[in-house]
Amino acid sequence: MSTQRIELAPALVAFLDAQFPELGGVAHVPVFACARFPFERLLRYLQRFSGLMFFDRIYLRRKPAEVAEANPALLELLFHEFVHVRQFHRKIVRSSLRYAWHFLRAGYWNHPMEIEARAEAARLLKQYLNAKRHESAAKLAA
Ligand SMILES: [Zn+2]
Repeated sequence: MSTQRIELAPALVAFLDAQFPELGGVAHVPVFACARFPFERLLRYLQRFSGLMFFDRIYLRRKPAEVAEANPALLELLFHEFVHVRQFHRKIVRSSLRYAWHFLRAGYWNHPMEIEARAEAARLLKQYLNAKRHESAAKLAA
């Protein structure tokens, strides 16, 4: 399977635009479904991850259909990577050095930027699912 760019559903794009205004429209952040990340052959360490943010691009180790379906686990992964895009936005060199520094000190799981990304992704998922629930309730009531 090759790397394929995914078009996110309009409702999801609208949600992301509202949550990440500093990115100036998430349409500028392409999302790719792939079997293998860029540089994975060189950086074998990447094999353990299911999502990757790389210069304002998001790679998800998923089949394109799974990304399009956007189940809660996929959404949480997507939100997590968008938090990383926000963390690195505009200060890519400084953020990369900061990321590496914390990584050497704390490892992946206890990394402050990873802790933030996990917490934010969980919060965003809850908010997105709530909004969707309200929307379908409103449709039923109409
Ligand atoms: Zn992460």
